[in-house]
Amino acid sequence: MTTLGIECTAHTFGIGIIKDNKIIANEFDMYKPEKGGIVPADAAQHHRSVAQQVLENALQKANISIKDIDQIALSTGPGLPPCLVAGMEFAKSLSKPIIPVNHCIAHIEIGKQTLKFKDPLIVYSSGANTQIIAQQGNRYAIFGECIDIGIGNAIDKFARSIGLPMPGGPKIEQLALLGKKYIDLPYTVKGMDLVFSGLVTAASKKAKTEKLEDMAYSFQETIFAMLTEVTERALAHTKKTEVLLTGGVAKNRRLQTMLSEMAKLHNAQFGVPQDEYLGDNGAMISLVGSLSKNPQKDIDINPNWRTDQVELTW
Ligand code: AMP
Ligand code: MG
Repeated sequence: MTTLGIECTAHTFGIGIIKDNKIIANEFDMYKPEKGGIVPADAAQHHRSVAQQVLENALQKANISIKDIDQIALSTGPGLPPCLVAGMEFAKSLSKPIIPVNHCIAHIEIGKQTLKFKDPLIVYSSGANTQIIAQQGNRYAIFGECIDIGIGNAIDKFARSIGLPMPGGPKIEQLALLGKKYIDLPYTVKGMDLVFSGLVTAASKKAKTEKLEDMAYSFQETIFAMLTEVTERALAHTKKTEVLLTGGVAKNRRLQTMLSEMAKLHNAQFGVPQDEYLGDNGAMISLVGSLSKNPQKDIDINPNWRTDQVELTW
């Protein structure tokens, strides 16, 4: 069985191919706004313009032709509606059975599969999403999450306010390495949930008078400590023995260190997938498509599809 996965929820148009449980292609093209944040209509236009080329690259990498594809897995949500529509139109144009895939579940499953984790506590930290998750029965339950903006978006917004273009995360990480002084910033944890907007506003204001290196360092220490605090509470409560960090922000070495040190204190194993599978990618979508095996006739986008609404059939 060969499944072709299409990722299209936000900035990245990606195509992955999985054949008999082995990933044989993972190609993508990322939209990068010249200034400001993602403009959904522009991102959708980007997806339309690169889709055919990304498909050809993926087929060439896998050394197969479109005739060899049995089914399409499509990320139908959550995401930006114009981007989801662009992906769906492209998927439909390929005239194969389509399996709708939840983008968040795909970030989780690619991590579990590549690390061979069985039942981890999951820290899903990406551009638009921040969730602490663990499986309960045949669903993933959310123990804590961001209630205003996602952690990556918060980092990107702060980065833009100090003149660093999208994606700001890697640039803030480099700048933070040079920081020496911790500058006090708002730390907002509400029960198990996280609020980032106040932190972004305060940091952007203070950056007008403080050194940017110190601001980047203080911003990272604060935002990652918030995430680590709620993860630790979820770990103590669930008593899981594995902690999986996934999503684009998981590339950050400082976040990896904070979470792995915390996990060690609780005798839990910590893991993060290789960088290729952390940002949005088509391989993770193809993986979930190959697991779920339920092509549907009436495919539609699902922009607000939540992680805890998906029944795990595998
Ligand atoms: P995703 O939505 O999962 O593709 O993740 C994209 C987000 O990851 C963007 O907000 C990036 O700024 C962020 N990101 C990528 N690399 C890093 C990094 N090294 N540190 C922090 N954030 C990062
Ligand atoms: Mg993502």
